[in-house]
Amino acid sequence: MPTGSCHCGRVRITIPTAPAYLNECQCTLCFKYGVRWCYFTKDQVTVEIASDSDGDTKQYLLSSPAAASATPLPGLALYIRNDVDYKTKPENTAFNRCANCGGVAFWIRTYPSYAEKPNGRTGINSQLFARDVVEGVEIRKEPGPP
Ligand SMILES: [Zn+2]
Ligand SMILES: [Zn+2]
Repeated sequence: MPTGSCHCGRVRITIPTAPAYLNECQCTLCFKYGVRWCYFTKDQVTVEIASDSDGDTKQYLLSSPAAASATPLPGLALYIRNDVDYKTKPENTAFNRCANCGGVAFWIRTYPSYAEKPNGRTGINSQLFARDVVEGVEIRKEPGPP
C-alpha cells in the first residue's frame, strides 16, 4: 500500500496498489496544475492530515462524508470547480490542497448523491508518491477523468 505526501509532509495519502496508469489530464484546470492523476475508488484511499493547531494527525477514508464535503477537512484548502456545463455534468469537484505547502493532493466530487457512493471515483496526485511507485507506469493524456 504505497503512501505518499505533499512537500511539507502534513498531508499523507495511502493508495491500495501502484497506479495502473497516470493521466496528465488535458482539461483547462489540470493542465495548469501540471498534475498526473491516478484513480481509485473512494473507499480504497486514506488521507492523513497533521493538524496545525494541536500536532495531532487525523485519518479519513475518502468515502467518509466529511471528505466529500464542500467544507475542507482541517489542514486542507479547497478549490471547488464550478466552470463545467451543469446541463451535461451536474457536479462539483473539490480540488484539495495542503493548506500549508499548497501541494495538490486529490479531487473528490461534492454533489450530494455522490457522498452516498463509497465506490465512487477519486483522483489522487501521483506526484505525491516516491519515484519507484510511479516510474515506468504508463502515462496517458486524456481530456478528463475516465
Ligand atoms: Zn504540505
Ligand atoms: Zn482535468
